[in-house]
Amino acid sequence: MAYQTVNPYTNEVVKTYPNATTDQINAALAVSDNLYHEWRKNDEMEKRAKILLNIADEFRQRKNQLARIAVTDMGKLYKEAQGEVELCAMIAEYFAKHGAEMLKPTPIQTIATGEAEVQKHATGIIMAVEPWNFPYYQIMRVFAPNFMVGNPMILKDASNTPGSAEAFVNAVQEAGAPIGSLTNLFLGYDQVSEIIADPRVQGVALTGSERGGRSVAVAAAEHLKKNTMELGGMDAFIVLEDADIDEVAEIAWRTRLYNAGQVCTSSKRFIVAANLYDEFLSRLKAKFAAVVPGDPMKTSTTLAPMNSKKAKEKLQAQVNEAIANGAKVYYGNEPIDLPGQFFMPTILTDIDKNNPAFRTEMFGPVAQVYKVNSESEAIDLANDSQFGLGGIVFAGDADHGAEVASQIETGMVFVNNFMASLPELPFGGVKKSGYGREMSELGMMAFVNEQLIVKADHPDLSNVAGGLVATD
Ligand code: NAP
Repeated sequence: MAYQTVNPYTNEVVKTYPNATTDQINAALAVSDNLYHEWRKNDEMEKRAKILLNIADEFRQRKNQLARIAVTDMGKLYKEAQGEVELCAMIAEYFAKHGAEMLKPTPIQTIATGEAEVQKHATGIIMAVEPWNFPYYQIMRVFAPNFMVGNPMILKDASNTPGSAEAFVNAVQEAGAPIGSLTNLFLGYDQVSEIIADPRVQGVALTGSERGGRSVAVAAAEHLKKNTMELGGMDAFIVLEDADIDEVAEIAWRTRLYNAGQVCTSSKRFIVAANLYDEFLSRLKAKFAAVVPGDPMKTSTTLAPMNSKKAKEKLQAQVNEAIANGAKVYYGNEPIDLPGQFFMPTILTDIDKNNPAFRTEMFGPVAQVYKVNSESEAIDLANDSQFGLGGIVFAGDADHGAEVASQIETGMVFVNNFMASLPELPFGGVKKSGYGREMSELGMMAFVNEQLIVKADHPDLSNVAGGLVATD
């Protein structure tokens, strides 16, 4: 893919970037590998924590500049971009403050002679392949914990957000991170596979689509490289019959339209109890109708363009296909008379299970709404998906909402609230939404060698249990 910024609000080609050369790739691998060995020899975790705090400061100081670059790259609302930069600072700060504690050895009680513990060591270079929808946050999710661990990272960012990738790395370097701790390369798919094959690379992290994930996971599997996959989702937003419809109405539209609907954990399927269905639809429509499309840099704008012409065309084709297969348009699906890549917020109903839309992730401002007659029908419908990323349950009683939540086959469910991504909360899914977790202690351990060390002063054969040790 050619790396270029095309502003999705103006359609202007802002800048094009050449792909990395083989020499650049070799140099990046060599410098990162040297750094890995240097970090492995010298205990520099405290130093890295300080740099990570500087990185948080640097992001905060550059908030407006970074936000503007992201808006130009992929069109999101300026205020949402500013929020994303702040979240990056929070992630860096969190791992700076808590990383060392998480990486302390864990003692193990054992009948083996001596003392046993699991130490947590770096493993080597991580190849991170990241998407455009949160062009800073997605990188920080992998970078901050691995920087603390001591795993240098090579980044292949989405081809339509090269400006953001460069700006991220510049901020990290300005904050004092050593060369090689994070290297951005504009790579073709074959080049990504070549890097994965390199023995100095020990981990692969991808966030993106099922299609991209499968290709990169195959390359990782071929070379037996540990990998994490953060893929797509068709998250359900379940409204139980005793839910507070005012609260539901306040949250539902945001969960679909935030980031112009281009979020893996957007609520893509609203599953609503029959007694609230009509009310829900009319409230959602009122909220969708109230958004203001326009210049994403302006605070008065509440609907951003989609990230690219291609993405908008793909979404339109999906909506057309849904309608051709029986879906009804309750609201929307009309052109917006602006040059940018705007898609009118749209509500689809009457989607039956044979409709391709039932199993298609629509990555934009389109809500699918389903009516159900019981709680168990809601749960079954939510689980009737190849994806298993997140979800939301609104219930009159939060404890009951949590009971329903634990029956949803996904990696994350929020009860009576918007889904939030925070550094202390593990992020990730099951089924075709991928495997592994990012953020939190779970995410930090993704590419750690959990090395068992058992130490004794002398061998002791009197305590050999169950024939586990040869005694002759
Ligand atoms: P995508 O096409 O898979 O792209 C994501 C990244 O993978 C980009 O850097 C892309 O590079 C790269 N890529 C794609 N195919 C590749 C291959 N064969 N070899 C090497 N690299 C490859 O995903 P997208 O459609 O842009 O992103 C939206 C998807 O990401 C949605 O499905 C969304 O749900 C998912 N997502 C998941 C999470 C999560 O945490 N679970 C978060 C955000 C988004 P190019 O740009 O050069 O193609």
